[in-house]
Amino acid sequence: MRTKIEIKVNEVLPSRVNVLKALGVPPSAPPDERVNRLADDAIGLVKKLATPVALMELISTEAFAPVYDGEGKNAPDTPLARTFPRSSCLALFAVTIGERVSLRISDLFDHDEFSQGTALDAAASECVELAAQNVERSFRDEVRENMVKAVTMSFSPGYCGWDISTQRKLFAQLAPSEIGIELNESCLMTPLKSVSGVLVAGGIGIFDHDDDFPFCDQCRTRECRARQEQLGLQ
Ligand code: SF4
Repeated sequence: MRTKIEIKVNEVLPSRVNVLKALGVPPSAPPDERVNRLADDAIGLVKKLATPVALMELISTEAFAPVYDGEGKNAPDTPLARTFPRSSCLALFAVTIGERVSLRISDLFDHDEFSQGTALDAAASECVELAAQNVERSFRDEVRENMVKAVTMSFSPGYCGWDISTQRKLFAQLAPSEIGIELNESCLMTPLKSVSGVLVAGGIGIFDHDDDFPFCDQCRTRECRARQEQLGLQ
Protein backbone atom coordinates (compact mmCIF):
# COMPACT_ATOMS: atom_id res chain seq x y z
CA MET A 1 0.00 0.00 0.00
CA ARG A 2 1.24 3.46 -0.95
CA THR A 3 0.19 6.56 0.97
CA LYS A 4 0.83 10.23 0.34
CA ILE A 5 0.77 12.14 3.62
CA GLU A 6 0.10 15.87 3.65
CA ILE A 7 1.56 17.24 6.88
CA LYS A 8 0.38 20.50 8.44
CA VAL A 9 3.36 22.79 8.94
CA ASN A 10 2.10 23.81 12.40
CA GLU A 11 2.46 20.18 13.51
CA VAL A 12 6.18 20.11 12.68
CA LEU A 13 7.40 23.55 13.68
CA PRO A 14 10.50 23.32 15.86
CA SER A 15 10.58 24.92 19.29
CA ARG A 16 12.88 27.83 20.08
CA VAL A 17 14.75 25.64 22.59
CA ASN A 18 15.51 23.01 19.95
CA VAL A 19 16.62 25.54 17.35
CA LEU A 20 18.93 27.15 19.92
CA LYS A 21 20.24 23.71 20.87
CA ALA A 22 20.93 22.93 17.19
CA LEU A 23 22.83 26.24 17.04
CA GLY A 24 24.97 25.09 19.97
CA VAL A 25 23.22 27.17 22.66
CA PRO A 26 22.59 24.94 25.69
CA PRO A 27 19.21 25.30 27.50
CA SER A 28 21.12 26.41 30.62
CA ALA A 29 22.71 29.41 28.83
CA PRO A 30 21.55 32.86 30.04
CA PRO A 31 18.80 34.31 27.77
CA ASP A 32 20.14 36.44 24.92
CA GLU A 33 17.46 38.56 23.24
CA ARG A 34 19.35 38.84 19.96
CA VAL A 35 19.86 35.08 19.66
CA ASN A 36 16.27 34.37 20.72
CA ARG A 37 15.01 36.71 18.01
CA LEU A 38 17.23 34.99 15.44
CA ALA A 39 15.69 31.62 16.36
CA ASP A 40 12.13 33.00 16.40
CA ASP A 41 12.61 34.67 12.98
CA ALA A 42 13.94 31.40 11.57
CA ILE A 43 10.92 29.49 12.92
CA GLY A 44 8.65 32.15 11.41
CA LEU A 45 10.31 31.70 8.01
CA VAL A 46 9.96 27.91 8.21
CA LYS A 47 6.27 28.38 9.00
CA LYS A 48 5.89 30.62 5.96
CA LEU A 49 7.96 28.63 3.46
CA ALA A 50 7.84 24.93 4.40
CA THR A 51 5.43 22.61 2.58
CA PRO A 52 5.87 19.26 4.36
CA VAL A 53 4.71 16.18 2.50
CA ALA A 54 5.62 12.49 2.70
CA LEU A 55 5.28 9.23 0.85
CA MET A 56 5.13 5.85 2.56
CA GLU A 57 4.90 2.43 0.91
CA LEU A 58 4.65 -0.94 2.62
CA ILE A 59 7.21 -3.47 1.41
CA SER A 60 7.75 -7.15 2.20
CA THR A 61 10.94 -8.41 3.82
CA GLU A 62 11.81 -10.27 0.61
CA ALA A 63 11.33 -7.19 -1.55
CA PHE A 64 13.29 -5.01 0.89
CA ALA A 65 16.36 -7.31 0.98
CA PRO A 66 17.76 -6.13 -2.42
CA VAL A 67 16.95 -2.50 -1.50
CA TYR A 68 18.97 -2.97 1.69
CA ASP A 69 21.87 -4.58 -0.23
CA GLY A 70 21.94 -1.72 -2.74
CA GLU A 71 25.24 -1.84 -4.60
CA GLY A 72 26.94 -4.17 -2.11
CA LYS A 73 28.72 -1.38 -0.21
CA ASN A 74 27.14 -1.82 3.23
CA ALA A 75 29.22 -2.67 6.29
CA PRO A 76 29.39 -6.46 6.81
CA ASP A 77 27.16 -6.23 9.90
CA THR A 78 24.71 -3.42 10.72
CA PRO A 79 21.81 -2.78 13.14
CA LEU A 80 19.37 -2.76 10.20
CA ALA A 81 20.68 -6.07 8.78
CA ARG A 82 20.01 -7.67 12.17
CA THR A 83 16.61 -6.02 12.54
CA PHE A 84 14.63 -6.11 9.29
CA PRO A 85 14.61 -9.92 8.75
CA ARG A 86 12.88 -10.27 12.15
CA SER A 87 10.38 -7.44 11.58
CA SER A 88 6.60 -7.74 11.35
CA CYS A 89 6.12 -4.87 8.93
CA LEU A 90 8.32 -2.62 6.78
CA ALA A 91 7.65 0.57 4.84
CA LEU A 92 9.85 2.73 2.64
CA PHE A 93 9.37 6.43 3.20
CA ALA A 94 10.52 9.84 1.99
CA VAL A 95 9.57 13.19 3.45
CA THR A 96 10.45 16.75 2.50
CA ILE A 97 9.66 20.28 3.60
CA GLY A 98 10.05 21.51 0.02
CA GLU A 99 12.47 23.63 -1.98
CA ARG A 100 11.47 27.12 -0.86
CA VAL A 101 13.22 26.91 2.53
CA SER A 102 16.47 25.70 0.94
CA LEU A 103 16.34 28.50 -1.62
CA ARG A 104 15.92 31.07 1.16
CA ILE A 105 18.86 29.56 3.09
CA SER A 106 21.08 29.82 -0.03
CA ASP A 107 19.85 33.37 -0.62
CA LEU A 108 20.76 34.42 2.93
CA PHE A 109 24.28 32.99 2.61
CA ASP A 110 24.68 34.57 -0.85
CA HIS A 111 23.92 37.94 0.75
CA ASP A 112 26.38 37.35 3.65
CA GLU A 113 23.54 37.01 6.16
CA PHE A 114 25.40 34.19 7.88
CA SER A 115 23.63 34.29 11.26
CA GLN A 116 20.17 34.25 9.68
CA GLY A 117 21.22 31.59 7.18
CA THR A 118 22.63 29.35 9.90
CA ALA A 119 19.56 29.81 12.10
CA LEU A 120 17.19 29.03 9.22
CA ASP A 121 19.26 25.99 8.27
CA ALA A 122 19.01 24.71 11.87
CA ALA A 123 15.26 25.38 12.09
CA ALA A 124 14.64 23.68 8.72
CA SER A 125 16.65 20.61 9.76
CA GLU A 126 14.61 20.36 12.96
CA CYS A 127 11.40 20.75 10.97
CA VAL A 128 12.15 17.92 8.53
CA GLU A 129 13.21 15.71 11.45
CA LEU A 130 9.83 16.37 13.12
CA ALA A 131 8.10 15.63 9.81
CA ALA A 132 9.92 12.28 9.63
CA GLN A 133 8.74 11.54 13.19
CA ASN A 134 5.22 12.41 12.08
CA VAL A 135 5.46 9.79 9.29
CA GLU A 136 6.79 7.20 11.74
CA ARG A 137 3.80 7.91 14.02
CA SER A 138 1.39 7.29 11.12
CA PHE A 139 3.17 4.01 10.36
CA ARG A 140 3.06 2.98 14.04
CA ASP A 141 -0.66 3.76 14.30
CA GLU A 142 -1.32 1.66 11.20
CA VAL A 143 0.75 -1.28 12.43
CA ARG A 144 -0.82 -1.21 15.89
CA GLU A 145 -4.27 -1.82 14.42
CA ASN A 146 -3.13 -5.45 14.04
CA MET A 147 -0.22 -5.67 16.46
CA VAL A 148 -0.97 -3.68 19.58
CA LYS A 149 2.47 -3.92 21.16
CA ALA A 150 4.51 -3.24 18.02
CA VAL A 151 7.29 -0.72 18.34
CA THR A 152 8.85 1.12 15.40
CA MET A 153 12.12 2.64 14.36
CA SER A 154 13.36 4.39 11.21
CA PHE A 155 16.69 3.82 9.45
CA SER A 156 18.19 5.98 6.72
CA PRO A 157 20.88 5.31 4.10
CA GLY A 158 24.17 6.89 5.07
CA TYR A 159 23.89 5.98 8.73
CA CYS A 160 24.91 3.02 10.92
CA GLY A 161 26.71 1.07 8.17
CA TRP A 162 23.85 1.29 5.64
CA ASP A 163 25.68 2.81 2.68
CA ILE A 164 24.39 6.01 1.08
CA SER A 165 24.49 4.34 -2.38
CA THR A 166 21.46 2.25 -1.35
CA GLN A 167 19.46 5.42 -1.99
CA ARG A 168 19.45 4.48 -5.69
CA LYS A 169 17.47 1.27 -5.16
CA LEU A 170 15.30 2.92 -2.52
CA PHE A 171 14.40 5.68 -4.98
CA ALA A 172 13.85 3.19 -7.82
CA GLN A 173 11.35 1.35 -5.63
CA LEU A 174 9.60 4.28 -3.93
CA ALA A 175 9.75 6.88 -6.73
CA PRO A 176 9.46 9.94 -4.44
CA SER A 177 9.60 12.30 -7.42
CA GLU A 178 5.83 12.13 -6.93
CA ILE A 179 6.33 14.51 -4.00
CA GLY A 180 9.19 16.45 -5.62
CA ILE A 181 12.23 14.63 -4.18
CA GLU A 182 15.03 13.79 -6.63
CA LEU A 183 18.38 12.06 -6.17
CA ASN A 184 21.61 13.48 -7.61
CA GLU A 185 24.77 11.67 -8.76
CA SER A 186 26.20 11.70 -5.22
CA CYS A 187 22.99 10.19 -3.81
CA LEU A 188 22.07 13.47 -2.11
CA MET A 189 18.45 14.52 -2.17
CA THR A 190 16.90 17.65 -3.63
CA PRO A 191 15.29 19.46 -1.83
CA LEU A 192 18.13 19.19 0.64
CA LYS A 193 15.76 19.23 3.61
CA SER A 194 14.41 15.76 2.95
CA VAL A 195 14.70 12.43 4.77
CA SER A 196 14.30 8.96 3.29
CA GLY A 197 14.64 5.45 4.63
CA VAL A 198 12.78 2.45 5.92
CA LEU A 199 10.36 2.16 8.84
CA VAL A 200 10.61 -1.07 10.76
CA ALA A 201 7.96 -2.47 13.12
CA GLY A 202 8.14 -5.48 15.38
CA GLY A 203 8.61 -6.73 18.90
CA ILE A 204 10.85 -4.59 21.07
CA GLY A 205 13.62 -7.22 21.17
CA ILE A 206 14.49 -6.84 17.48
CA PHE A 207 15.80 -3.32 18.14
CA ASP A 208 18.17 -4.32 20.92
CA HIS A 209 21.79 -3.91 19.86
CA ASP A 210 25.03 -2.58 21.30
CA ASP A 211 27.02 0.35 19.93
CA ASP A 212 30.17 -1.63 19.22
CA PHE A 213 30.04 -2.02 15.43
CA PRO A 214 33.36 -1.05 13.79
CA PHE A 215 31.77 2.11 12.29
CA CYS A 216 30.54 3.28 15.73
CA ASP A 217 34.03 4.68 16.44
CA GLN A 218 33.27 7.52 14.01
CA CYS A 219 29.76 8.20 15.36
CA ARG A 220 29.35 11.62 16.95
CA THR A 221 25.69 11.37 17.96
CA ARG A 222 25.34 7.86 19.47
CA GLU A 223 21.68 8.43 18.59
CA CYS A 224 20.85 4.72 18.89
CA ARG A 225 21.43 4.96 22.64
CA ALA A 226 18.75 7.64 23.02
CA ARG A 227 16.35 5.73 20.78
CA GLN A 228 16.87 2.53 22.75
CA GLU A 229 16.38 4.45 25.98
CA GLN A 230 13.05 5.78 24.65
CA LEU A 231 11.99 2.20 23.99
CA GLY A 232 13.06 1.17 27.49
CA LEU A 233 15.90 -1.04 26.23
CA GLN A 234 18.63 0.80 28.17
S1 SF4 B 1 26.72 4.31 17.90
FE1 SF4 B 1 26.14 5.57 16.14
S2 SF4 B 1 26.84 4.42 14.32
FE2 SF4 B 1 26.82 3.00 16.05
S3 SF4 B 1 24.82 2.00 15.92
FE3 SF4 B 1 24.63 3.75 17.34
S4 SF4 B 1 23.91 5.50 16.10
FE4 SF4 B 1 24.70 3.87 14.70
